[in-house]
This record gives sequence, structure tokens and C-alpha cells, in this order.
Amino acid sequence: MLLNATDISRPLTPPTPIAKLQVQGITKSFRRSRKPLTVLDDVNLHLSKSEFVCIAGASGCGKSTLLNIIAGLLPPCEGQVLVDGEPVPGPGADRGMVFQSYTLYPWLTVANNVAFGLKLRRLPKAQMRERVGYFLNIVGLSAFASAYPKELSGGMKQRVAIARALINGPEVLLMDEPFGALDAQTKEKMQQFMLELWEKTRTSILMITHDLEEAIYLAQRVYVMSAHPGRIQQEIKIDLPPERELDLKLSPKFIQTK
Ligand code: ADP
Ligand code: MG
Repeated sequence: MLLNATDISRPLTPPTPIAKLQVQGITKSFRRSRKPLTVLDDVNLHLSKSEFVCIAGASGCGKSTLLNIIAGLLPPCEGQVLVDGEPVPGPGADRGMVFQSYTLYPWLTVANNVAFGLKLRRLPKAQMRERVGYFLNIVGLSAFASAYPKELSGGMKQRVAIARALINGPEVLLMDEPFGALDAQTKEKMQQFMLELWEKTRTSILMITHDLEEAIYLAQRVYVMSAHPGRIQQEIKIDLPPERELDLKLSPKFIQTK
């Protein structure tokens, strides 16, 4: 399954002239009492259009800090993030984010949680409803539009969060340990779901996980991070096994293409 693994000093896949996402020389330190703690040290990576890439690394190595910087939620000390070759200094509709803890509003229905992600607030109501319906259909939750988060299982809640992250049609879907809070069986179902979603929509996905096995199963490429300070230690290119496509249980009602 593994094609090759190299030291990052000789990258397997240099960035295409304009990558969908490019992370250049990101450094981040936090002030802890008097001593600054360097969490990220010169992190460089890229994501091509329609690529599924995972960043794997042990707990505490700086994965969430890195993804928050990429999402524009946290400023780096040095370096920059580019989308389609343009620097993005803050958050934007071009990057949709999914967190481990779902972060749904308990007082809003599923449909309104998804609608809450819409940046285009001036969209006419009918168009907004249509757009929300489209993405609820993509995540297989059309029947739960009026339900509240507490009525849903963990996997369903995470699918609502994914629909909300996709609602603005982002260039890149960022996911921070999205299945970390799920039991083993649900996790496996969600992994299949992500592969189906990716096969159908070809969204560029950058996903973080502490589970290298999960990363290798899902992604086309994996960046392995080391800790203290967080650095990209290795890049692994995955040769997709042909049987994986046969594994996919695609149901036409589950996902619809544009
Ligand atoms: P991971 O997601 O890989 O588990 P994190 O990015 O959450 O790692 O954290 C990396 C390190 O940075 C940890 O040692 C954590 O305690 C520290 N850290 C993260 N956020 C802050 C912060 N806001 N202030 C101080 N230290 C932080
Ligand atoms: Mg984390």
C-alpha cells in the first residue's frame, strides 16, 4: 500500500505552480509564564486541487494549532497561508472547518445549524432553504432538518458539522480529528462516508488525526508531524488500492452531484 516514504528534506511531491492551499514557513510560539513555548517550527505543506491529505502526529505535537492557523482563527508568528496562490490573513468562506467537538448550537435545529454557517446572509430565504437542503442531502440527513442536535447520534452530529462547513462551497475542507469523539463502529462508518463524499464532490480535504493508520487508509498523501517543536517530519505518498473503490457502498440518495 505504501509507495514510498522520504525524508522531508527531499519532498516527494513538490507543490504544483499554484496549489489549492499552501502553508509557508509557519512558526508559532505561546508565552508560558516567562518562557515562550515554540509549538510550530517552520511548517511547510501544500494541498492540490481535489487532493485528500492527512496530517498525523501524536497528541500535543501542534496539529490543532497548525489547523487553526490555516483556518485563519489564530495568527502565526511567522509564515503565511495561501489559497490559490493568494495570502489569506484571516478566516474566509474559502476554508470550511470541522472540529472534533461538533460545535453545534443546541438551541438551533439541524437546518438552522447548517444555515448558520452561511456567509451570504442576504440570500433570499427560498434560496437559503434550497442550499441547506442540498447539503443536508449530501450528508444523508434530509429527514432530520427539523431535529435538534440532542436527538442525533455522534456520527450524525458530525455530519451536520460537515454540511455546515460545506455550505459556502469552500475551496478546502479542514477537519481537526473529526472522528476522535466517536466509537469504533461509528468511526468506521464515518471514514467510509468521508471517502464517498470525497469521491463524489472532489473537494480538497486537509484532515488531522493522531491515528496514522486512519491517515494512511483515507488520504492520498500523509504528512507526519514530530513534537517539541512541531515539524513536518515525513511525507508519505499512498498508492490507493483498487479494492477500495469496490468497498464503497454508494447509495444514490446519500449523495447527489451538482
Ligand atoms: P495537538 O492538536 O497536536 O494535540 P495542540 O496544537 O492542541 O496539539 O497543542 C500543541 C501544544 O501547544 C501543547 O503543548 C499545548 O499545550 C500548547 N498550546 C496550544 N494552544 C495554546 C495556547 N493558547 N496557549 C499556550 N499553549 C498552547
Ligand atoms: Mg488537537
